[in-house]
Amino acid sequence: MPDLIDPAAAVFKVALPVPVPRLFDYRAPARANAGSGDIGRRVRVPFGPRELVGVVAGVGPAEGGGSGLKPILGVVDADPLFHGELLDSLRWLARYTHAPLGEVFSTALPAALRRGEALPDTHVWAWCLTEAGQTARTTLRQGKPRRFADVLQDSPRGEDILDTLVDGWRSAARALSQRGLAERVAMPPASSHTQQLAPQPQTGPVLNSEQHAAVAALQSQSQSGFAATLLDGVTGSGKTEVYLQAIATCLARGKQALVLVPEIGLTPQALARFRARLGVPVHALHSGLTDGERARVWTAAWRGEARVIVGTRSAVFTPLPDAGLIVIDEEHDASYKQQDGIRYHARDFALVRGKALNIPVILGSATPSLESLYNARSGRYTHLRLTQRAGNAMPPSVRVLDVRKRPLQAGLSPQLLDAIRAALAAGGQVLVFKNRRGYAPVLLCHDCGWSAQCKRCSTPSQGTPMTVHGGGRRLQCHHCGARQGVPPACPDCASLMLQPQGVGTERLEELLAEQCADVPVIRIDRGSTRRKDALQRHFDTLGAQPGILVGTQMLAKGHDLPNLTLVAVVGIDEGLLSADFRAGEKLAQLLVQVAGRAGRAEKPGAVLLQTHHPEHPLLHTLIHGGYHAFADDELAQREAAGFPPFAPMALLRAEAKHADLPMAFLHAAKGVLHNVSSRVSAASDSQGSLQTNATKDIELHGPVTAPMPKRAGMHRAQLILSSPNRRSLHAALDHALPQIYELPEARKVRWSLDVDPMDLY
Ligand code: ADP
Ligand code: ZN
Ligand code: ZN
Repeated sequence: MPDLIDPAAAVFKVALPVPVPRLFDYRAPARANAGSGDIGRRVRVPFGPRELVGVVAGVGPAEGGGSGLKPILGVVDADPLFHGELLDSLRWLARYTHAPLGEVFSTALPAALRRGEALPDTHVWAWCLTEAGQTARTTLRQGKPRRFADVLQDSPRGEDILDTLVDGWRSAARALSQRGLAERVAMPPASSHTQQLAPQPQTGPVLNSEQHAAVAALQSQSQSGFAATLLDGVTGSGKTEVYLQAIATCLARGKQALVLVPEIGLTPQALARFRARLGVPVHALHSGLTDGERARVWTAAWRGEARVIVGTRSAVFTPLPDAGLIVIDEEHDASYKQQDGIRYHARDFALVRGKALNIPVILGSATPSLESLYNARSGRYTHLRLTQRAGNAMPPSVRVLDVRKRPLQAGLSPQLLDAIRAALAAGGQVLVFKNRRGYAPVLLCHDCGWSAQCKRCSTPSQGTPMTVHGGGRRLQCHHCGARQGVPPACPDCASLMLQPQGVGTERLEELLAEQCADVPVIRIDRGSTRRKDALQRHFDTLGAQPGILVGTQMLAKGHDLPNLTLVAVVGIDEGLLSADFRAGEKLAQLLVQVAGRAGRAEKPGAVLLQTHHPEHPLLHTLIHGGYHAFADDELAQREAAGFPPFAPMALLRAEAKHADLPMAFLHAAKGVLHNVSSRVSAASDSQGSLQTNATKDIELHGPVTAPMPKRAGMHRAQLILSSPNRRSLHAALDHALPQIYELPEARKVRWSLDVDPMDLY
């Protein structure tokens, strides 16, 4: 029974999407039942000259009668959009990220609902044969329209399912509907109907013993509430098969399953695999959908109609009224961390939700994040290992190629070129990995040493080179996107000797096309693969014939290329030398993931790592001990240095056009933090609480200029906060932030707080 409040004096405390860390009071509509039942509904309110859509976060009696308050303009929802677990979890997220609740709510909603649109229809579009179509079906000639008509013979089929049943069915559908033989119909979403829109689930491969053990372990916990499991399985070990079984168990119990995948992991194949195997409609949520489609999937989940939702980062906000399971595939992937606005980590938030929902959460990866490994080792997560590749595939052999003093062509050594030719001659495919887009990273004047730098990203003390693109004709800044043509002559000395220095994927493509002229060379990076389906089209172009894929980390993930027998890795030396504390972890993950592309089927695979630092400890440990040996070393180093996951961190960033303002703001903020942390610790001292020591050791490092001191015309600086005790870190921020918001210096900069930052940029 919701608490009711005297309607004459009721006030809605509204969370609005504005960067102010509080709720706003409005007079509730004059109706008899204003009360806690309104919490979680969207309302329209006047805000200065604007009208905003907010969410009711509290209801109470007005202080002093509330006579000065503006009334709300209208209630959008008949039922709360946020309630129960999701509402609680979002409140938690606002506290954890120290962000305004209104901004968290708005981040959690699909754009159409954020704008205040009504909840959409959630019917399912399906196709069926008309009566004429039923009669004419057998008279159709063999071909796509006939196959399309055949699958509709017994019952209508949902459009999602048609994708998996008849390749390119849309043209057949159009042709038949023009002749009045087939029609598109909206089916009610109730699951009894949608069941029959899905095909019989296909059976998967027979699980090997490790997969079997993993499935059994997951089964045993499927009904015992919250449990976090790290499914730590080498690339190609069949983790997806294990998820599929766990999801099937969840569905059999009548529950919903949410599957999070990295941005590049959500390919049409991945979806088709889920659809074909689960036998229920699978709803996809990703950035390639229209606003309307996203709102429909969100709403279908909210209504409990969507049973399986597969989505990227923001799908973690999907309402799950009948939640049974959450899976996070490739849990180490950087795309799970939102890098602007509300800086949440989808993996971490999924765990919070799993706990609140009291359901199991599975984290899967071949290269688990150090955070998750640490949690698994300390017993907080169940640790399941898959150490063998599934089926007949063998692990690839890995060899380091020392290229010191070797002649290089576009960065490739003669041995590497020979190995590539040999692999092609044996009928295999080759992947050449280089983590740098463009033609060359630098344009240099050979006569005077001038190099092309981005004006918007360089400071007097630190230049930011522009990358050469377009085969040497264009310059582009990879940090701010600035573009310009290559100057005809050196701006400093007028020399014509302007030379691209170093190697990017375009230049590699050029060299390989020249050296291996009889096979296709396909470049895959953000430049060549803008469209959603472009990656797939690239793979289709290659088919099973011998050929070369050249590309960036886009290639590191997700694709099964059965004929890929050689992976050549070049240009990793920068990662080996980087100072960022996560650089080692990222590089190790990337190397293992790229290497894991090789030899995934019957043909054995080989990996060649070309480097100028063959003795580097990271490479040595990784190759001889594997990812876990690397992780052991790295965790020991992090512990010794007081880095995450041992000491949680938060980063206060600031930027401004004027060079001095970010530092001025951060110095003021540091003063505030310093004061509150000594006050917080003094208070706990006098109470003699257990946290006495913990609160003292909040460390403030900086402020310093950011590793990239200027970007897109903005000067940048940062202040790092760390503490071995997460609670004291948050307590200090809770006390300090209200004052930091009010600092006069705060108004002159753009500032943000990032709890658990992934990059110290
Ligand atoms: P991962 O997610 O661990 O990279 P996948 O689940 O994608 O691995 O499996 C890799 C390949 O091995 C897929 O083609 C899959 O169909 C196949 N596979 C998985 N499990 C088995 C099995 N038990 N027997 C044979 N093939 C399998
Ligand atoms: Zn010059
Ligand atoms: Zn720039």
